[in-house]
Amino acid sequence: MSRPDLLERIAAAQADLARDHLVRRLRTVGAADGPWLTLDGRRLLSFASNDYLGLAQHPALREALTAAAAQWGVGATAAHLLGGHRAPHAELEAALAAWTGREKALLFSTGYMANLGVLDALLGEGDLCVQDRLNHACLIDGARLAGCELKRYPHADADGAARQLAGTADAAALLASDGVFSMDGDVAPLAALAALCKREGATLMVDDAHGLGVLGPDGAGSLAAAGLTQADAPVLMATLGKALGVAGAFVAGPAVLIDALAQFARTHVYTTATPPALAAATLRAVAIARAEGERRERLMRLIALFRDGARAHGLALLDSPTPIQPVLVGDSGAALAAAAALEAAGFYVPAIRPPTVPQGKARLRVTLSAAHAPSDVERLLDALAAVLKATSLAPAGRGSG
Ligand SMILES: *Cc1c(COP(=O)(O)O)cnc(C)c1O
Repeated sequence: MSRPDLLERIAAAQADLARDHLVRRLRTVGAADGPWLTLDGRRLLSFASNDYLGLAQHPALREALTAAAAQWGVGATAAHLLGGHRAPHAELEAALAAWTGREKALLFSTGYMANLGVLDALLGEGDLCVQDRLNHACLIDGARLAGCELKRYPHADADGAARQLAGTADAAALLASDGVFSMDGDVAPLAALAALCKREGATLMVDDAHGLGVLGPDGAGSLAAAGLTQADAPVLMATLGKALGVAGAFVAGPAVLIDALAQFARTHVYTTATPPALAAATLRAVAIARAEGERRERLMRLIALFRDGARAHGLALLDSPTPIQPVLVGDSGAALAAAAALEAAGFYVPAIRPPTVPQGKARLRVTLSAAHAPSDVERLLDALAAVLKATSLAPAGRGSG
Protein backbone atom coordinates (compact mmCIF):
# COMPACT_ATOMS: atom_id res chain seq x y z
CA MET A 1 0.00 0.00 0.00
CA SER A 2 1.33 3.39 -0.81
CA ARG A 3 -0.05 6.37 0.99
CA PRO A 4 -1.13 9.30 -1.27
CA ASP A 5 0.95 12.42 -0.69
CA LEU A 6 -1.28 15.33 0.32
CA LEU A 7 0.89 18.07 -1.15
CA GLU A 8 1.20 16.23 -4.47
CA ARG A 9 -2.54 15.74 -4.58
CA ILE A 10 -3.36 19.38 -3.94
CA ALA A 11 -0.74 20.47 -6.49
CA ALA A 12 -2.47 18.27 -9.09
CA ALA A 13 -5.81 19.89 -8.24
CA GLN A 14 -4.16 23.30 -8.69
CA ALA A 15 -2.86 22.25 -12.12
CA ASP A 16 -6.42 21.26 -13.11
CA LEU A 17 -7.60 24.75 -12.16
CA ALA A 18 -5.00 26.34 -14.41
CA ARG A 19 -6.04 24.09 -17.31
CA ASP A 20 -9.70 25.13 -16.87
CA HIS A 21 -9.05 28.91 -16.57
CA LEU A 22 -10.16 28.75 -12.94
CA VAL A 23 -7.13 30.02 -11.04
CA ARG A 24 -8.03 33.04 -8.93
CA ARG A 25 -5.32 35.66 -8.92
CA LEU A 26 -4.61 37.60 -5.73
CA ARG A 27 -4.17 41.29 -6.51
CA THR A 28 -2.76 43.79 -4.04
CA VAL A 29 -4.51 47.14 -4.03
CA GLY A 30 -1.95 49.89 -3.52
CA ALA A 31 -4.44 52.65 -2.73
CA ALA A 32 -8.20 53.12 -2.46
CA ASP A 33 -10.05 56.37 -2.95
CA GLY A 34 -13.84 56.04 -3.09
CA PRO A 35 -14.59 53.73 -6.03
CA TRP A 36 -11.04 54.16 -7.39
CA LEU A 37 -8.36 51.51 -6.82
CA THR A 38 -4.69 51.50 -7.63
CA LEU A 39 -3.61 48.12 -9.05
CA ASP A 40 -0.08 47.53 -10.38
CA GLY A 41 0.46 51.28 -10.23
CA ARG A 42 -2.60 52.10 -12.38
CA ARG A 43 -5.69 53.91 -11.15
CA LEU A 44 -8.82 51.94 -12.05
CA LEU A 45 -12.49 52.73 -11.58
CA SER A 46 -13.79 49.79 -9.58
CA PHE A 47 -17.16 48.09 -9.96
CA ALA A 48 -16.23 45.28 -7.61
CA SER A 49 -16.91 46.37 -4.06
CA ASN A 50 -19.88 45.61 -1.83
CA ASP A 51 -19.69 49.12 -0.34
CA TYR A 52 -23.16 49.83 -1.74
CA LEU A 53 -23.82 53.01 0.24
CA GLY A 54 -20.31 54.41 -0.07
CA LEU A 55 -19.69 54.26 3.69
CA ALA A 56 -16.34 52.43 3.85
CA GLN A 57 -14.37 55.69 3.70
CA HIS A 58 -16.96 58.01 5.23
CA PRO A 59 -15.37 60.70 7.47
CA ALA A 60 -17.86 60.07 10.30
CA LEU A 61 -16.93 56.37 10.38
CA ARG A 62 -13.21 57.16 10.41
CA GLU A 63 -13.81 59.58 13.25
CA ALA A 64 -15.88 57.07 15.26
CA LEU A 65 -13.20 54.44 14.73
CA THR A 66 -10.31 56.62 15.85
CA ALA A 67 -12.21 58.10 18.82
CA ALA A 68 -13.13 54.61 20.04
CA ALA A 69 -9.57 53.38 19.49
CA ALA A 70 -8.35 56.28 21.63
CA GLN A 71 -10.78 55.27 24.37
CA TRP A 72 -10.66 51.46 24.17
CA GLY A 73 -7.36 50.67 22.50
CA VAL A 74 -7.30 48.21 19.62
CA GLY A 75 -7.97 44.62 20.66
CA ALA A 76 -11.01 43.40 22.61
CA THR A 77 -8.50 41.13 24.44
CA ALA A 78 -10.91 38.22 24.98
CA ALA A 79 -14.03 36.42 23.83
CA HIS A 80 -17.38 38.11 24.47
CA LEU A 81 -18.18 35.89 27.46
CA LEU A 82 -14.77 36.40 29.06
CA GLY A 83 -14.47 40.17 29.29
CA GLY A 84 -14.26 41.03 25.59
CA HIS A 85 -17.84 42.33 25.30
CA ARG A 86 -17.43 46.11 25.53
CA ALA A 87 -20.01 48.90 25.66
CA PRO A 88 -19.76 49.61 21.88
CA HIS A 89 -20.56 45.93 21.16
CA ALA A 90 -23.64 46.08 23.40
CA GLU A 91 -24.81 49.37 21.84
CA LEU A 92 -24.33 47.97 18.35
CA GLU A 93 -26.31 44.80 19.13
CA ALA A 94 -29.18 46.92 20.44
CA ALA A 95 -29.07 49.20 17.37
CA LEU A 96 -29.08 46.25 14.95
CA ALA A 97 -32.02 44.60 16.74
CA ALA A 98 -33.98 47.87 16.64
CA TRP A 99 -33.20 48.48 12.96
CA THR A 100 -34.25 45.00 11.85
CA GLY A 101 -37.30 44.86 14.15
CA ARG A 102 -35.97 41.94 16.18
CA GLU A 103 -35.96 41.38 19.94
CA LYS A 104 -32.23 40.84 20.18
CA ALA A 105 -29.04 40.57 18.14
CA LEU A 106 -25.72 38.80 18.63
CA LEU A 107 -22.42 39.82 17.03
CA PHE A 108 -20.09 37.48 15.16
CA SER A 109 -16.65 38.35 13.79
CA THR A 110 -17.58 37.48 10.18
CA GLY A 111 -20.62 36.39 8.22
CA TYR A 112 -18.94 33.09 7.50
CA MET A 113 -18.57 32.46 11.23
CA ALA A 114 -22.14 33.54 11.92
CA ASN A 115 -23.61 31.06 9.46
CA LEU A 116 -21.39 28.20 10.64
CA GLY A 117 -22.27 28.96 14.26
CA VAL A 118 -26.01 29.28 13.77
CA LEU A 119 -26.50 26.17 11.64
CA ASP A 120 -24.27 24.07 13.87
CA ALA A 121 -26.13 25.28 16.99
CA LEU A 122 -29.61 24.69 15.59
CA LEU A 123 -29.17 21.47 13.62
CA GLY A 124 -27.76 18.00 14.20
CA GLU A 125 -27.98 14.42 13.00
CA GLY A 126 -31.50 13.44 11.94
CA ASP A 127 -32.48 17.06 11.20
CA LEU A 128 -33.14 18.52 7.76
CA CYS A 129 -31.73 21.67 6.20
CA VAL A 130 -33.29 22.80 2.93
CA GLN A 131 -31.34 25.41 0.96
CA ASP A 132 -31.46 27.29 -2.33
CA ARG A 133 -28.94 25.88 -4.79
CA LEU A 134 -27.31 29.31 -5.16
CA ASN A 135 -26.92 30.01 -1.43
CA HIS A 136 -23.60 31.41 -0.24
CA ALA A 137 -20.88 28.83 0.44
CA CYS A 138 -20.92 29.40 4.20
CA LEU A 139 -24.58 28.37 4.53
CA ILE A 140 -23.74 25.12 2.77
CA ASP A 141 -20.68 24.63 4.98
CA GLY A 142 -22.74 25.33 8.11
CA ALA A 143 -25.15 22.52 7.24
CA ARG A 144 -22.21 20.19 6.59
CA LEU A 145 -20.66 21.08 9.92
CA ALA A 146 -23.98 20.47 11.70
CA GLY A 147 -24.11 16.90 10.33
CA CYS A 148 -27.77 17.21 9.33
CA GLU A 149 -29.29 16.10 6.05
CA LEU A 150 -28.81 18.85 3.43
CA LYS A 151 -31.13 19.18 0.44
CA ARG A 152 -30.69 21.90 -2.17
CA TYR A 153 -33.66 23.03 -4.22
CA PRO A 154 -33.48 24.65 -7.67
CA HIS A 155 -32.79 28.38 -7.47
CA ALA A 156 -35.70 30.46 -6.11
CA ASP A 157 -38.07 27.49 -6.48
CA ALA A 158 -40.42 27.53 -3.48
CA ASP A 159 -42.33 24.52 -4.86
CA GLY A 160 -39.08 22.57 -5.05
CA ALA A 161 -38.38 23.50 -1.44
CA ALA A 162 -41.90 22.39 -0.49
CA ARG A 163 -41.35 18.94 -2.03
CA GLN A 164 -38.07 18.54 -0.15
CA LEU A 165 -39.63 19.50 3.19
CA ALA A 166 -42.67 17.28 2.64
CA GLY A 167 -40.37 14.36 1.83
CA THR A 168 -39.04 14.33 5.41
CA ALA A 169 -42.10 15.50 7.30
CA ASP A 170 -41.07 14.31 10.77
CA ALA A 171 -37.59 15.83 10.96
CA ALA A 172 -36.90 19.18 12.63
CA ALA A 173 -36.21 21.48 9.66
CA LEU A 174 -34.54 24.77 8.80
CA LEU A 175 -35.05 26.41 5.41
CA ALA A 176 -32.13 28.75 4.73
CA SER A 177 -31.91 31.22 1.85
CA ASP A 178 -29.87 34.23 0.87
CA GLY A 179 -32.18 37.28 0.87
CA VAL A 180 -30.29 38.74 -2.11
CA PHE A 181 -28.16 36.25 -4.06
CA SER A 182 -24.54 37.33 -3.99
CA MET A 183 -23.57 36.39 -7.57
CA ASP A 184 -26.93 36.95 -9.31
CA GLY A 185 -28.35 39.93 -7.42
CA ASP A 186 -31.93 38.67 -7.45
CA VAL A 187 -34.15 38.56 -4.35
CA ALA A 188 -35.41 35.26 -2.90
CA PRO A 189 -39.17 34.55 -3.04
CA LEU A 190 -39.32 35.36 0.67
CA ALA A 191 -43.09 35.58 1.11
CA ALA A 192 -43.56 32.16 -0.51
CA LEU A 193 -40.75 30.65 1.59
CA ALA A 194 -42.22 32.11 4.79
CA ALA A 195 -45.68 30.73 3.97
CA LEU A 196 -44.15 27.34 3.19
CA CYS A 197 -42.25 27.24 6.48
CA LYS A 198 -45.41 28.09 8.40
CA ARG A 199 -47.33 25.32 6.62
CA GLU A 200 -44.59 22.73 7.15
CA GLY A 201 -43.60 23.71 10.69
CA ALA A 202 -40.07 24.55 9.51
CA THR A 203 -37.96 27.53 10.64
CA LEU A 204 -36.95 30.17 8.08
CA MET A 205 -33.44 31.60 8.13
CA VAL A 206 -32.48 34.46 5.82
CA ASP A 207 -28.90 35.56 5.10
CA ASP A 208 -29.33 39.23 4.20
CA ALA A 209 -25.67 40.08 3.62
CA HIS A 210 -26.56 42.03 0.46
CA GLY A 211 -30.04 43.24 1.43
CA LEU A 212 -29.33 45.08 4.68
CA GLY A 213 -28.82 48.78 4.07
CA VAL A 214 -29.98 48.48 0.47
CA LEU A 215 -33.58 47.21 0.44
CA GLY A 216 -36.67 47.96 2.49
CA PRO A 217 -37.85 50.92 4.55
CA ASP A 218 -34.82 52.59 6.22
CA GLY A 219 -32.68 49.97 4.49
CA ALA A 220 -33.86 47.37 7.04
CA GLY A 221 -33.36 44.65 4.42
CA SER A 222 -35.08 42.19 2.11
CA LEU A 223 -37.44 40.80 4.77
CA ALA A 224 -38.69 44.27 5.70
CA ALA A 225 -39.08 45.02 1.98
CA ALA A 226 -41.31 41.94 1.68
CA GLY A 227 -43.33 42.99 4.75
CA LEU A 228 -42.12 39.97 6.75
CA THR A 229 -41.45 40.10 10.48
CA GLN A 230 -39.56 38.15 13.11
CA ALA A 231 -42.54 35.77 13.40
CA ASP A 232 -42.21 34.93 9.68
CA ALA A 233 -38.41 34.63 9.61
CA PRO A 234 -37.12 34.00 13.13
CA VAL A 235 -33.46 33.69 12.11
CA LEU A 236 -32.00 36.76 10.38
CA MET A 237 -28.30 36.96 9.67
CA ALA A 238 -26.59 39.91 8.00
CA THR A 239 -23.08 41.23 7.57
CA LEU A 240 -21.48 44.51 8.56
CA GLY A 241 -18.79 44.52 5.85
CA LYS A 242 -21.00 45.19 2.84
CA ALA A 243 -23.46 48.10 2.75
CA LEU A 244 -22.30 49.17 6.22
CA GLY A 245 -18.72 49.42 5.02
CA VAL A 246 -17.00 47.97 8.11
CA ALA A 247 -16.58 44.25 9.02
CA GLY A 248 -18.32 41.53 11.00
CA ALA A 249 -21.83 40.13 11.17
CA PHE A 250 -24.80 39.54 13.43
CA VAL A 251 -27.76 37.26 13.94
CA ALA A 252 -31.04 38.81 15.09
CA GLY A 253 -34.26 37.21 16.27
CA PRO A 254 -36.37 36.26 19.26
CA ALA A 255 -34.65 36.53 22.66
CA VAL A 256 -34.90 32.76 23.20
CA LEU A 257 -32.90 32.16 20.02
CA ILE A 258 -30.28 34.83 20.62
CA ASP A 259 -29.74 33.88 24.27
CA ALA A 260 -29.28 30.25 23.25
CA LEU A 261 -26.88 31.15 20.41
CA ALA A 262 -24.72 33.04 22.93
CA GLN A 263 -24.31 29.65 24.67
CA PHE A 264 -24.29 27.19 21.76
CA ALA A 265 -22.86 29.00 18.71
CA ARG A 266 -19.25 27.85 18.96
CA THR A 267 -18.02 30.46 16.47
CA HIS A 268 -19.31 33.14 18.85
CA VAL A 269 -18.19 31.53 22.12
CA TYR A 270 -14.69 30.37 21.19
CA THR A 271 -13.36 33.42 19.41
CA THR A 272 -12.02 36.84 20.31
CA ALA A 273 -14.53 39.66 20.15
CA THR A 274 -13.91 42.11 17.29
CA PRO A 275 -12.14 45.37 18.21
CA PRO A 276 -14.57 47.69 20.04
CA ALA A 277 -13.57 50.50 17.67
CA LEU A 278 -15.05 48.50 14.79
CA ALA A 279 -18.32 48.25 16.71
CA ALA A 280 -18.26 52.02 17.28
CA ALA A 281 -17.66 52.68 13.58
CA THR A 282 -20.45 50.26 12.65
CA LEU A 283 -22.81 52.02 15.05
CA ARG A 284 -22.20 55.24 13.09
CA ALA A 285 -22.71 53.37 9.83
CA VAL A 286 -26.08 52.07 11.02
CA ALA A 287 -27.19 55.58 11.97
CA ILE A 288 -26.15 56.96 8.57
CA ALA A 289 -27.62 54.04 6.62
CA ARG A 290 -30.96 54.49 8.38
CA ALA A 291 -31.10 58.26 8.19
CA GLU A 292 -29.67 59.01 4.75
CA GLY A 293 -32.27 57.51 2.44
CA GLU A 294 -30.81 59.66 -0.36
CA ARG A 295 -27.88 57.22 -0.55
CA ARG A 296 -30.30 54.39 -1.41
CA GLU A 297 -32.16 56.65 -3.85
CA ARG A 298 -28.92 57.56 -5.63
CA LEU A 299 -28.01 53.88 -5.77
CA MET A 300 -31.40 52.93 -7.22
CA ARG A 301 -31.02 55.61 -9.92
CA LEU A 302 -27.61 54.19 -10.85
CA ILE A 303 -29.08 50.67 -11.02
CA ALA A 304 -31.82 51.88 -13.39
CA LEU A 305 -29.26 53.79 -15.47
CA PHE A 306 -27.06 50.69 -15.75
CA ARG A 307 -29.91 48.35 -16.66
CA ASP A 308 -31.41 50.69 -19.26
CA GLY A 309 -28.00 51.25 -20.82
CA ALA A 310 -27.10 47.56 -20.77
CA ARG A 311 -30.34 46.67 -22.51
CA ALA A 312 -29.72 49.34 -25.13
CA HIS A 313 -26.26 47.83 -25.75
CA GLY A 314 -27.69 44.28 -25.91
CA LEU A 315 -25.76 43.00 -22.86
CA ALA A 316 -26.95 39.77 -21.14
CA LEU A 317 -28.32 40.97 -17.79
CA LEU A 318 -29.85 38.89 -15.00
CA ASP A 319 -33.16 39.72 -13.34
CA SER A 320 -31.67 41.81 -10.51
CA PRO A 321 -33.19 44.85 -8.80
CA THR A 322 -30.11 45.29 -6.57
CA PRO A 323 -26.63 46.83 -6.97
CA ILE A 324 -25.31 43.39 -7.98
CA GLN A 325 -25.62 43.52 -11.80
CA PRO A 326 -23.80 40.57 -13.35
CA VAL A 327 -23.19 40.47 -17.08
CA LEU A 328 -23.27 36.85 -18.23
CA VAL A 329 -20.42 35.72 -20.50
CA GLY A 330 -20.62 31.91 -20.17
CA ASP A 331 -17.16 30.60 -20.90
CA SER A 332 -14.55 31.10 -18.15
CA GLY A 333 -11.73 31.96 -20.55
CA ALA A 334 -13.91 34.53 -22.32
CA ALA A 335 -14.93 36.08 -18.99
CA LEU A 336 -11.25 36.40 -18.01
CA ALA A 337 -10.40 37.95 -21.37
CA ALA A 338 -13.24 40.45 -20.98
CA ALA A 339 -12.10 41.40 -17.46
CA ALA A 340 -8.54 41.90 -18.75
CA ALA A 341 -9.75 44.08 -21.62
CA LEU A 342 -11.83 46.18 -19.22
CA GLU A 343 -8.80 46.61 -17.01
CA ALA A 344 -6.78 47.79 -19.99
CA ALA A 345 -9.54 50.36 -20.53
CA GLY A 346 -9.29 51.56 -16.90
CA PHE A 347 -12.02 49.55 -15.12
CA TYR A 348 -11.80 46.88 -12.43
CA VAL A 349 -14.63 44.36 -12.90
CA PRO A 350 -13.76 40.84 -11.78
CA ALA A 351 -14.65 37.70 -13.73
CA ILE A 352 -16.52 35.22 -11.53
CA ARG A 353 -16.07 31.59 -12.55
CA PRO A 354 -17.01 28.12 -11.27
CA PRO A 355 -17.21 26.87 -8.56
CA THR A 356 -18.47 30.25 -7.30
CA VAL A 357 -21.07 30.13 -10.11
CA PRO A 358 -22.40 27.07 -12.02
CA GLN A 359 -20.49 25.58 -14.99
CA GLY A 360 -20.96 27.60 -18.18
CA LYS A 361 -22.22 30.65 -16.27
CA ALA A 362 -19.02 32.66 -15.88
CA ARG A 363 -19.74 36.36 -15.66
CA LEU A 364 -18.49 39.84 -15.01
CA ARG A 365 -19.85 40.77 -11.59
CA VAL A 366 -20.60 44.48 -11.77
CA THR A 367 -21.53 46.05 -8.44
CA LEU A 368 -22.74 49.61 -8.12
CA SER A 369 -22.30 52.01 -5.22
CA ALA A 370 -23.75 55.33 -4.15
CA ALA A 371 -20.12 56.48 -4.44
CA HIS A 372 -20.32 56.17 -8.25
CA ALA A 373 -21.35 59.12 -10.40
CA PRO A 374 -23.82 58.58 -13.27
CA SER A 375 -20.98 59.39 -15.69
CA ASP A 376 -18.93 56.51 -14.17
CA VAL A 377 -21.75 54.11 -15.03
CA GLU A 378 -22.09 55.50 -18.55
CA ARG A 379 -18.37 55.09 -19.19
CA LEU A 380 -18.50 51.52 -17.90
CA LEU A 381 -21.41 50.70 -20.21
CA ASP A 382 -19.53 51.95 -23.27
CA ALA A 383 -16.44 49.95 -22.29
CA LEU A 384 -18.48 46.80 -21.58
CA ALA A 385 -20.24 47.00 -24.93
CA ALA A 386 -16.95 47.44 -26.80
CA VAL A 387 -15.16 44.69 -24.88
CA LEU A 388 -17.92 42.09 -25.08
CA LYS A 389 -18.36 42.70 -28.78
CA ALA A 390 -14.63 42.12 -29.29
CA THR A 391 -14.61 39.04 -26.99
CA SER A 392 -17.52 37.38 -28.76
CA LEU A 393 -15.70 37.82 -32.10
CA ALA A 394 -12.49 36.34 -30.70
CA PRO A 395 -11.75 32.65 -31.30
CA ALA A 396 -12.98 30.41 -28.44
CA GLY A 397 -10.65 29.00 -25.81
CA ARG A 398 -7.87 31.51 -26.34
CA GLY A 399 -5.04 31.97 -23.89
CA SER A 400 -4.16 29.89 -20.83
CA GLY A 401 -5.34 32.51 -18.32
C1 LIG B 1 -20.25 37.97 2.08
C2 LIG B 1 -21.29 36.98 2.44
C3 LIG B 1 -21.17 36.21 3.60
C4 LIG B 1 -19.93 36.19 4.42
O1 LIG B 1 -19.77 37.35 5.17
P1 LIG B 1 -18.32 37.80 5.65
O2 LIG B 1 -18.58 38.76 6.72
O3 LIG B 1 -17.65 38.37 4.45
O4 LIG B 1 -17.65 36.55 6.14
C5 LIG B 1 -22.23 35.41 3.94
N1 LIG B 1 -23.33 35.32 3.18
C6 LIG B 1 -23.46 36.02 2.04
C7 LIG B 1 -24.70 35.89 1.22
C8 LIG B 1 -22.43 36.86 1.63
O5 LIG B 1 -22.54 37.53 0.49
